[in-house]
Amino acid sequence: MEQIVIIGNGISGVTLARHIRKLSDKKITIISAESDYFFSRTALMYVYMGHMKFEHTQPYENWFWKKNRIELVNGFVEKVETDIKKLSLKDGSSISYDKLVIATGSKPNKFGWPGQDLKGVQGLYSKQDLELLEKNAPNNKVCNRAVIVGGGLIGIEMAEMLRSREIPVTFLVREKSFWNGVLPSGESAMINEHIKEHHIDLQLDTNLEKIISDENGRAKAVVTDKGETIECNVVGLTAGVAPNIDFLKDAGIELGRGVKVNRFLETNIKDIFAIGDCAEQHTGIGSRRPIEAVWYTGRMMGETLAQTICGTPREYNPGHWFNSAKFLDIEYQTYGWVFSERIKKDNEHHFHWRHATEKICITVAFNKDSHQFLGINTFGIRMRHEIFDQWLAENKDIDHIMTYLKDANFDPEFYKLYEDEIVAKYNADFNKNISPKKKSWKRIFSIA
Ligand SMILES: Cc1cc2nc3c(=O)[nH]c(=O)nc-3n(C[C@H](O)[C@H](O)[C@H](O)COP(=O)(O)OP(=O)(O)OC[C@H]3O[C@@H](n4cnc5c(N)ncnc54)[C@H](O)[C@@H]3O)c2cc1C
Repeated sequence: MEQIVIIGNGISGVTLARHIRKLSDKKITIISAESDYFFSRTALMYVYMGHMKFEHTQPYENWFWKKNRIELVNGFVEKVETDIKKLSLKDGSSISYDKLVIATGSKPNKFGWPGQDLKGVQGLYSKQDLELLEKNAPNNKVCNRAVIVGGGLIGIEMAEMLRSREIPVTFLVREKSFWNGVLPSGESAMINEHIKEHHIDLQLDTNLEKIISDENGRAKAVVTDKGETIECNVVGLTAGVAPNIDFLKDAGIELGRGVKVNRFLETNIKDIFAIGDCAEQHTGIGSRRPIEAVWYTGRMMGETLAQTICGTPREYNPGHWFNSAKFLDIEYQTYGWVFSERIKKDNEHHFHWRHATEKICITVAFNKDSHQFLGINTFGIRMRHEIFDQWLAENKDIDHIMTYLKDANFDPEFYKLYEDEIVAKYNADFNKNISPKKKSWKRIFSIA
């Protein structure tokens, strides 16, 4: 029977294994050096914050794998010999495969900062990182200040985690405004305010120069490029992630930043595939980036590749971009493309509305000439994915979006709704006379 070996038990590897099992009787082995069982990486923060135990981040019972004949191996793959289809593990053992899938995820970036390997300096990616944070920053007696370096989604999560234990946090962000390479300026400015209001010492336009050691090789301070020395016990390195593929350097598999794959998720070597954070498309699909380190794309790649491996070749087709995250307690959703001023094209126009007092806002992107709707970002208002997916697929224009915006709102009726206010501002900004239609469940159900 054909032996499928998957390196990595994250969302992409595990989704693939589950779907291969649904479709076939193939032998399946998953190897991981991180944990015995699959867990939800996105929930790690809630373990530190005391909202759940680590076991609760595991979506499947421990018996699930045996019952479904998915063999789990705890070990680190050091070498791949593609000519003889063999993997060598750190403990000296080896595993043969007929088909190999690389699903090894990401690792936190380190940019060669002096002191980056000192004790007390860490990233936030793995189960081991969570355990280390528990040791490094159990409370504000052991850790009387943490400095976080790198202003993205993981950085703000780490700040929230540490603040939940009342640990003072300084947040060094290279950009002039938080995440302004991704977010338009109005949104980025709102998040700056929100971070500061949560008593996080946000230092914008500031880089880490070096981390200073005490006599025991432990971080005791950082020095910034503004010449400031900040005393701390913990330094969180959250300046993005990169594909975790160092072990493949000499394997003969084509590598760029990640493992290069085509639309069928095949590498340059027959019977070897890559999925999830570590996979890099030769060219981005549509406006999408060649590497997308997000949860749902890993899951989609796993589902797609299972079809190919089980005899129904299928191209990876992720559809319209969407994503969601949280900035402290503000929920953020994005559908389609809303580019920041730093990267948007001239013909991308934005309509921005922000609530007068609360941290709620939306930005809608549209084509200046055709008025075609390009995408929407929402903060503090939850929207319906299927509706925006449909509007993007049908190339609706922005007037249509404004007219039917109430249909897209996911918040229950008893929530305060803002569409009338939003559309009034749109009418004023663009000299229009749109009257928003009442929410229609008939219309919503015809799409959802
Ligand atoms: C703190 C945090 C919060 C996040 N929040 C969100 C979010 O809200 N929304 C979102 O969309 N995304 C989020 N992400 C990103 C998301 O978690 C990742 O995109 C996703 O987990 C990647 O899945 P994967 O299966 O590709 O890889 P991974 O989950 O990284 O799994 C790969 C596994 O392979 C193992 N491995 C690597 N090399 C080897 C080897 N040589 N031998 C054996 N095992 C190996 C690794 O140890 C790891 O266990 C977050 C990430 C982090 C770190």
